[in-house]
Amino acid sequence: MAALLGPAEIRDLAELLDLQPTKKLGQNFLLDANTVRKIVRTAGVQSNELVLEVGPGLGSLTLGILETGAEVLAVEIDPRLAQQLPHTVAAMQPEARITVINEDALKVAELPGGPTSLVANLPYNVSVPVLLHLIGGFEHIARGVVMVQAEVGQRIAATPDSKIYGSPSVKAAWYGRWWLAGTISRQVFWPVPNVDSVLVAFERGAAPGTEEERIRTFSLVDAAFQQRRKMLRQSLSSVLGSSAAASEVIERAGLAPTARGEALSMPDFLAIARASLA
Ligand code: SAM
Repeated sequence: MAALLGPAEIRDLAELLDLQPTKKLGQNFLLDANTVRKIVRTAGVQSNELVLEVGPGLGSLTLGILETGAEVLAVEIDPRLAQQLPHTVAAMQPEARITVINEDALKVAELPGGPTSLVANLPYNVSVPVLLHLIGGFEHIARGVVMVQAEVGQRIAATPDSKIYGSPSVKAAWYGRWWLAGTISRQVFWPVPNVDSVLVAFERGAAPGTEEERIRTFSLVDAAFQQRRKMLRQSLSSVLGSSAAASEVIERAGLAPTARGEALSMPDFLAIARASLA
């Protein structure tokens, strides 16, 4: 048998499991070995590391990661897929080391072994919350490459003053550097999704502030982008007490109360958070 899954193996596995991919779980499976190897190469997977994969599905990307010699810790919500995966891996790469956890990645509270990187083709509808939960909750994840819907990837990597800059951009920036690392054709999936995909790469930076400051920064970010056309003194008044109190805090942070959230960088939001906690 080949070391990676192609269209014929995906079809056989789907038949074996009587699988009808669901949109709700973002089930679009990779059919193309070249794409799998491109993702693994972009992620720079090392043979001696433990890689976290969210949503391994039928195992297309999993086998690509395992092919490098790396070990995989996989978190899959669908019990049929989680149960089958170790068998698929054993049949195709008998030497490979894999642990599968049948759990919702949004709720996972423990990652045995402390994986140092994240490589995943994320379920589209929960990609940002899953990323923030894992990168925010597990500091040992130092880097990663994930495939997400193109608009979501652009939003995560966006910088201030662009139309797509928003709360995911600022929150992601808290944890480190993010950049777009490639595009993936929708034709390499089964079923073919109705959106394009991109690869987003991540490298962790030093924490810019304390946990208390992070929580306050994230509340300010949520408030600012819930009313993105409003001036900060208005949009932040719900968190800071009143429009007058917000103006005072924003000025103490060295920023203009008349600015809009979309013009502020993550360090700007942090400066307001610090001024409000002082
Ligand atoms: N990695 C596979 C591939 O590339 O072919 C499948 C990727 S598919 C886009 C997303 C996978 O994530 C599916 O297997 C789905 O069952 C799983 N999934 C969806 N929501 C999840 C969640 N909250 N936690 C863990 N896995 C989830």
